[in-house]
Amino acid sequence: MPYRRPRGTQDILPAEAAKWQAVEATFREICERFGYGEIRTPMFEQTELFVRSVGESTDIVAKEMYTFTDRGGRSMTLRPEGTAPVVRAYLENGLYAQGGVQKFYYLSAIFRYERRQEGRYRQHHQAGIEALGSLQPSLDVEVITLGLTYLSAVGLDEVELLLNSIGCPRCRPVHREALRAYLRDRLDHLCPDCQRRFEVNPLRILDCKVPTCQTATQDAPVMLDYLCSECAEHFTAVRKGLTDLEVAYTLQPRLVRGLDYYTKTAFEIAHPALGAQNVLLGGGRYDGLVEQCGGPPTPGIGFGSGLERVLLALEKTGRTVSLSPRPRLYIAAVSPPERVQAQQLAWQLRREGLRVELDHEGRSLKGQMRQANRLGAALVLLLKEDELAAGQVTLRDMRRGEQELVPLEGLPERTIRQLGHSHRW
Ligand SMILES: [Zn+2]
Ligand SMILES: [Zn+2]
Repeated sequence: MPYRRPRGTQDILPAEAAKWQAVEATFREICERFGYGEIRTPMFEQTELFVRSVGESTDIVAKEMYTFTDRGGRSMTLRPEGTAPVVRAYLENGLYAQGGVQKFYYLSAIFRYERRQEGRYRQHHQAGIEALGSLQPSLDVEVITLGLTYLSAVGLDEVELLLNSIGCPRCRPVHREALRAYLRDRLDHLCPDCQRRFEVNPLRILDCKVPTCQTATQDAPVMLDYLCSECAEHFTAVRKGLTDLEVAYTLQPRLVRGLDYYTKTAFEIAHPALGAQNVLLGGGRYDGLVEQCGGPPTPGIGFGSGLERVLLALEKTGRTVSLSPRPRLYIAAVSPPERVQAQQLAWQLRREGLRVELDHEGRSLKGQMRQANRLGAALVLLLKEDELAAGQVTLRDMRRGEQELVPLEGLPERTIRQLGHSHRW
């Protein structure tokens, strides 16, 4: 085999894709319930958009982007995260001029040059939402509850909501200095990544999973103790809003987000079954991002949730998700003239909305009946020369094991009725 898929990518085959479709359909349905509309942006954008919004010092921009020069000499980057493209589209299409809160959801492929580990891919897929245009804590609560509703709807109820506030550009620098002062004496105990973070982004050291880093930062000053009055009030209101809805959460003062543009509320929803990579969904506010991308000051909040991670959690907890597949009808025919009629009938019934299969391998009648069985067909139509001449076919109900002669006339209506559904597209 001379060709292989690129490292860190996967082929999603039909059996697996059925689960993806079920999770995606659930996500769309929940988003529509909460009043979010779908947005689709290009798979690649100007590199500068991500460098400026995500932040030059972040791991994403520093080492994980798929960046290329196009034939026109422009630097382009495959989407490494979902929010910046939505903000760019919101500005470019003048949606901010409509005022009010604008709510979007997306299902997108995300590209990052990740180190290989379980549940991480270089092309992964994200379900995400963004709500732009309000600072109200009630919007934070709505976004968080949408995430919980989605996970619960796919069958993941035993999740934990982790909550923090990471402040704003006014109060964060004070905390950053306190954190640096604390860490300066402990630099020797930090991993190489954290030693680099010390200068550019010390907040992320709190989030490091290396045990020596966790020990070294055990009593480090946390952002919650440094919030300005505006951030503190906002956070209190978000917590009250969740409590009013009886949504349980755990304060997680060490929770930070990997991207520079986050402000105030930061949250994650984790699942205990997943071990180290246990975060199913993460998000937060980004009140400065729209302005940073060249727009008017506009607050925003959203989340992203990896589909691979959600599917892995479903697998580990033994849950199954599926859209109930429509029953199939199989048309069996042996000699060439009947095969022509079988193909005509199949096309007619497929246009009527039925899921129809027929033989393309020259099987015998017995072979075709075996295939119908293997496919789990609910009904089989048997086309025989003498019966067709009389305008009739044999209709076999595979579930009941009964068969009868029925007229060709009115066959679509009869089979639709018998399959107990009707689908017209
Ligand atoms: Zn603040
Ligand atoms: Zn570290």
